[in-house]
Amino acid sequence: MTTVKKIDIHNVERATHQALRDLNEVLVLNVVRERQPISRIEIAEWTELEGSTVSKIVARLLDNEYVYELGVAAASPNGGRKKRYLHLNPDKAYAIGVDVGSRMTTVALSDFNGRILRSSSTENDADPQRALEKVAVNIRKILQSSPAKERVEGIGVSLIGLIDPVEGRVLAGESLGWGDDVPVGAMLRQALNLNLPTYFENGARLAALAELWFGHHASPQPRDLVFLDIEEGIGAGIVIRGQLYHGSLHGAGEFGHISLDPEGPACICGGRGCLEVFASDRATIERYRELRRAEGNHTEDAPVTMRDVVARGLQGDPQAIAALRQTATYLGRGLVPVIYSVNPGVIVLGGVISEAWEIIYPEIRRVLASQVTRFYSSHVSIIPSTLKDIPSLVGAIALVLSRAFSAPGLG
Ligand SMILES: [Zn+2]
Repeated sequence: MTTVKKIDIHNVERATHQALRDLNEVLVLNVVRERQPISRIEIAEWTELEGSTVSKIVARLLDNEYVYELGVAAASPNGGRKKRYLHLNPDKAYAIGVDVGSRMTTVALSDFNGRILRSSSTENDADPQRALEKVAVNIRKILQSSPAKERVEGIGVSLIGLIDPVEGRVLAGESLGWGDDVPVGAMLRQALNLNLPTYFENGARLAALAELWFGHHASPQPRDLVFLDIEEGIGAGIVIRGQLYHGSLHGAGEFGHISLDPEGPACICGGRGCLEVFASDRATIERYRELRRAEGNHTEDAPVTMRDVVARGLQGDPQAIAALRQTATYLGRGLVPVIYSVNPGVIVLGGVISEAWEIIYPEIRRVLASQVTRFYSSHVSIIPSTLKDIPSLVGAIALVLSRAFSAPGLG
């Protein structure tokens, strides 16, 4: 094991992956993870290591079953040597990810590649003790179902609100409804009573980590990235030089509470006119309902979800399009301070609204073109989340696996 950037006092007894000897080994393993299938020559090109060094490292990684090799017949009819490609061994290790959302909690088992093998979701309980006991039961069940329990590296837990990631304490969690200063880490560890490292982090930050680890980006992988998670509230995760940025009180990334209008409607944070007030899913749904009422459509009393608004917008419903576009206007305005303060290469928008990309993206770009100098606006790429599964859940898995890889992402 090489560099571990932060030592978790709860987990010192379990240091695995002694086989990774040096930084070059970590580097090669990560290149295989990101670029697989990949040949030794390509690894040498990506890492700028000598070919002979790469060969030695790959031999060790093969011995320790971190990677495996598949031969592919040469394309030319005259034969020639088979090309050999390296893949990450998905069975080398497993991780359990837990995503505690505002309504549901999902527990998932993933392989070393971050592929989710199975998952289960339960509704949250208003009482944190009861809720975490339920989560513990689900974790134990999924652990039992693992192909090799002894190869489960740990449990990553995504929480919403202001989180102390070392203790797993929710310092402020109005969206969870569990109150402030809840020792989720201690409660879950007690309910689980397992000798497995358990890590905690804020969900938006984990979504950013997930994009960094498992996102499908144009090469090279982004090093400076902001993930804006648009749901009931708006949170963000910031990656700077490949590392999650926490801020001095673990509070970095609360762009949802940047005020766009100090005279605007009240926000749960105590401020007024925050981005969240105008651009959260709740705001978009409410705007859509108002537009329909204004059109004289009073027939719809059934609850409307964000998915409904997005689906209707994509089908051409003019009120849904107008509501989504107005949200996009606010999102564009909210991104101005993000772009000027962080100067990210990539901004990823997550949440159901990102599925209405063709409606929101042109409007976000229009606002940025008028409010950000061209140097900044042309430099930043703005994309919808590239992940199929819940980004914060994927990030919780990446949080565990990143320890195994001794790789970027640790704060
Ligand atoms: Zn606010």
